[in-house]
Amino acid sequence: MAYSYEAPVSQSLFDRASVVTPGGVNSPVRAFRAVGGTPRFMVSGTGPYLTDADGREYVDLVCSWGPMILGHSHPEVIAAVQEAVSRGTSFGTPGEGEVALAEEIVARIAPVEQVRLVSSGTEATMSAIRLARGFTGRAKVVKFAGCYHGHVDALLAAAGSGLATFGLPDTPGVTGATAGDTVVLPYNDLDAVRAAFAAHPGEIACVITEASPGNMGVVPPADGFNAGLKELCAANGALYISDEVMTGFRTSKAGWYGVDGVRPDLMTFGKVMGGGFPAAAFGGRADVMAHLAPAGPVYQAGTLSGNPVATAAGLAQLRLLDDAAYAKIDAVSAELRSLVGDALTKEGVAHTVSSASNMFSVFFTDEPVRDYDDAKKQEAFRFTAFFHSMLEQGVYLPPSAFESWFVSTAHDERAVARIADALPAAARAASEATA
Ligand code: PLP
Repeated sequence: MAYSYEAPVSQSLFDRASVVTPGGVNSPVRAFRAVGGTPRFMVSGTGPYLTDADGREYVDLVCSWGPMILGHSHPEVIAAVQEAVSRGTSFGTPGEGEVALAEEIVARIAPVEQVRLVSSGTEATMSAIRLARGFTGRAKVVKFAGCYHGHVDALLAAAGSGLATFGLPDTPGVTGATAGDTVVLPYNDLDAVRAAFAAHPGEIACVITEASPGNMGVVPPADGFNAGLKELCAANGALYISDEVMTGFRTSKAGWYGVDGVRPDLMTFGKVMGGGFPAAAFGGRADVMAHLAPAGPVYQAGTLSGNPVATAAGLAQLRLLDDAAYAKIDAVSAELRSLVGDALTKEGVAHTVSSASNMFSVFFTDEPVRDYDDAKKQEAFRFTAFFHSMLEQGVYLPPSAFESWFVSTAHDERAVARIADALPAAARAASEATA
């Protein structure tokens, strides 16, 4: 497909990047492979806007894939970072910032009695399943197709996010031995979970699920699904791990736990809690966390874990996320969902605007989407046309039909108006698109 607009500086940066970095990007979801064209190299962000290397401004609906919930360059977050950085960047010793961030997480999320800080969501889920295996003495892990938990070997089977975008069933480099203990089930299907426990009695260490999935597009749990998982885990001596890397501190003050109140044994966090820096965490029941080194025998460590600059940024961001902030994000999300839905309806484009609290995405199908197979049935080629029209008009969407869109407290009337102005042409482009 040829695009009528150009980005010469991004193109030349991408050419350079492609020589020294596989595919020209440091995370596959940043590439434009699913939609075609050249990824935009961004040079700055302010509030709801990003500016690329060619000097074009975009309303940002990716928000760094979730973390920038206060918008870009929030003055109080930047000030906290500057203050922290002026005292040094890493000590390799404990520091007060780590304690304060852990206390903030524990105070917000009742099931988290103790928490360990790490540097990425991947580390958080990897460590949580190791801990679950160490605690239970069992090997098997249940996960759901379309859920992404980072690039942990054992969790890459039928994963969402980039693997959904690129249609990869799983990945070379993960050995049969590693993946052999992973049981992949269809999402939102409690009977399948029941059957798995029956088929592997006493062998399942944990069930890990996205608290509300956003990596196959937004597919919320059906009523009672998370509660059913919790019950089945408890009845079978397995741990229920809720991955809140994406939903944590975003879908409410207490993440998805604040929405459905189902109490996990372990939880994982990332994105928002780092304020745009690499900070993540896993935590939960104190008796389970007590098995973690140095308190217990399950080893887990990190040179930069609890980094003072990252914890300062995360703490500053979390402290600004009060009830008013969530009310604002929820309202902007609701407004955008209705604007997008109206524009597509007007052009007769089959679609479903799917949401979970303030996270949302558009499926180009009017059939219900309850799991990964449903999500894959959408007409993704219509998204491609929609995406490029929005990009051309200065709105930056995730370059994939299988990712959540994110908004922030900084998405004000002006930003929403710019999105609203772009929608009619994008909806038309979607309606005219051919496979
Ligand atoms: N878990 C979920 C639900 C995620 O959405 C992600 C990333 O998108 C991860 C884990 C992995 O986090 P990270 O990319 O920080 O390793």
